[in-house]
Amino acid sequence: MKQFEYFSPKNVVETCALLKEFENDAQILAGGTDVLIELRKSSVKPPRAIIDINRLNELKGITETESEIIIKPLTTHTELGSSSSIKKHARLLHIAAHVIGSPQIRNRGTIGGNIMNAAACADTVPPLMALDATVKLLSVNGERIVPIIDFFIKPYQTIAIKNELLMEIRFPKLLDSMKSMFLKLGRRNALAISRLSVAAILRKSDSGLIQEVRIVPGAAFPKWQRMTEAEKILVGQKPSKELFIETGKRVSEAMISFTGRRWSTEYKEPVIAVLVRRALETCQ
Ligand SMILES: Cc1cc2nc3c(=O)[nH]c(=O)nc-3n(C[C@H](O)[C@H](O)[C@H](O)COP(=O)(O)OP(=O)(O)OC[C@H]3O[C@@H](n4cnc5c(N)ncnc54)[C@H](O)[C@@H]3O)c2cc1C
Repeated sequence: MKQFEYFSPKNVVETCALLKEFENDAQILAGGTDVLIELRKSSVKPPRAIIDINRLNELKGITETESEIIIKPLTTHTELGSSSSIKKHARLLHIAAHVIGSPQIRNRGTIGGNIMNAAACADTVPPLMALDATVKLLSVNGERIVPIIDFFIKPYQTIAIKNELLMEIRFPKLLDSMKSMFLKLGRRNALAISRLSVAAILRKSDSGLIQEVRIVPGAAFPKWQRMTEAEKILVGQKPSKELFIETGKRVSEAMISFTGRRWSTEYKEPVIAVLVRRALETCQ
């Protein structure tokens, strides 16, 4: 049995004080669907303190302003998937929430844990990046707001320092003219982590030309990024199957230019191209 001290603070001030007290040797516990699996590994040394944040009501819920959606980090994937605000103003995130794990995992797992764990296959991250989200972090030294595009360093590593608490995720609502999609492919249809995924947002002008497009693949690059070069070939064009096939190819080339050719390239090269094409086709 691994030994650690367990704390269940009542508010964020107490939480930040505990994080400061244990410095680099504390771990926040939200839904625990990543933390508990790590803790059970015989090779993993447990932290001195586990800080359970589940009593912090200020870290729960989804709200909206006229122009923005604000999601608190303890929002579970089930809550995310059943929120009418998310469905209406960020459909790709609504779709992503529905395809995470199983009902049990969605009931426990939180959006905050998904972001902070920073696994390459984290399904809420590509949609949040396409939505231009920001994250708010708090510690005893104060708070800071970081665009999610600048938040990740590499898989399982973010710019957050050990004593920072994720406080909220915020992004502009999609306009009615913006259509969006999230597609993922796992080894099987249910309870599968993403081998590859794509988040896409597309806006057409009244004349039917593509005005704006955002494409963010998941599990394809060492860290998430917008496919700006591929996006450029779409803007100002009339949507067509050929154009979307070409865009898919560009994304696939970009992926290989980053990762090089590996054992998995034979599979990933055509698959990412098809996911991009399909995501764009459904965004019309
Ligand atoms: C069977 C199974 C299937 C899964 N399937 C999927 C899937 O399909 N897609 C997918 O994306 N993920 C999947 N996951 C991974 C996991 O469920 C998600 O990443 C989940 O969102 C993690 O949230 P949590 O609340 O359980 O995080 P926890 O395990 O509690 O925490 C995860 C990490 O985040 C940190 N953390 C949590 N909240 C905060 C906060 N507010 N501030 C600072 N740090 C914080 C913790 O310290 C820890 O480092 C699966 C996991 C399992 C076990």
